[in-house]
Amino acid sequence: MQFNMEDPVSPTIDAWLFELKHRKSTSPDSILDASDPYDKAMLTFQYFTNSVIDGLERNDPEVVSLIHDGYLTAAYSRVPNTNYYKSDYMRQWVKEAMLKHPLRRKEHPFYFLAIIRAQNNSELRSVKSRLLAAHTEFEEWISRVFDPENLVKDPSGLWFLRNQNGIKDVDSSAVASEDPCFICTEKFDEDSHVAKQALCGHIICGGCFDKWLLECRGRYNCPMCRACVVCGANDCKHHDVQQEVAAPFPLPAILNVALPEAVSQSLHGLDPHIYFRLREETRQDRVSAAWIAILIKHTPENDPLFERFVEDGRELMQSIVTTCGMDRHYWAAE
Ligand SMILES: [Zn+2]
Ligand SMILES: [Zn+2]
Ligand SMILES: [Zn+2]
Repeated sequence: MQFNMEDPVSPTIDAWLFELKHRKSTSPDSILDASDPYDKAMLTFQYFTNSVIDGLERNDPEVVSLIHDGYLTAAYSRVPNTNYYKSDYMRQWVKEAMLKHPLRRKEHPFYFLAIIRAQNNSELRSVKSRLLAAHTEFEEWISRVFDPENLVKDPSGLWFLRNQNGIKDVDSSAVASEDPCFICTEKFDEDSHVAKQALCGHIICGGCFDKWLLECRGRYNCPMCRACVVCGANDCKHHDVQQEVAAPFPLPAILNVALPEAVSQSLHGLDPHIYFRLREETRQDRVSAAWIAILIKHTPENDPLFERFVEDGRELMQSIVTTCGMDRHYWAAE
């Protein structure tokens, strides 16, 4: 029998059970380690799936209704088949979802994480209430992501450093009389040496911390004891993310060149979904372009490298502009 997940009505309970058990479940021999945050997320998703399977097997009318209302389809068509659980692919997928700024995530990872949050919410006791909560969160998030005001922002690539309990503010006056900052040896104050505390307990001034993190190159740790600043572990293997070498060259400035006739329009006249895709797909190149601009600024004009940087920068910018322009025409032709 052909299983069509896009059609919310036709799949029977049996077809769903087959799908959930064979394509959406962890196989018994897969090794998921609950002390690994990404494996733990997969396990939590598995618990949710188990409760759906259980409800369908018991013919629970509330769970069965999720088939007919289309909610099961909405949820499971968005997450990868979980036979990937055994592979690094899935772990990377979950990791990227968890460490990426929410407004930069794609729909599928967002839905997956929304289900995990609902599963972890002890106030939501039934499968249905969890799925509906995830769905509501998803709808609200979608409207924020595609809000033009949010789209033109280019959220930080290291969002997780500030938002997963990493570095906390400390009352600077309370520590002013204590030992000075380990890096700059200045006393803490409310002004240029504001105290920040890492999970390990070490206190360093904000400016020094930021400079240090820029140097970390993927392993974000405390300069005093090397504990991970995201989770506090000494030998963390979970929070390594490649740092972008520069803040990306802003997309609107590139679109001004690529789509000059649309400068005054919201999002340069682009559909919000296309704008989102362009912003994410060109991000890496825009980071490189910004980096080349920094190199040019710091290279004397008589240095032989100067010409080369200028040429590289021009080529790269041209290729981004072409991508942006072509993309618009491609979609307009659809
Ligand atoms: Zn300092
Ligand atoms: Zn420390
Ligand atoms: Zn960590």
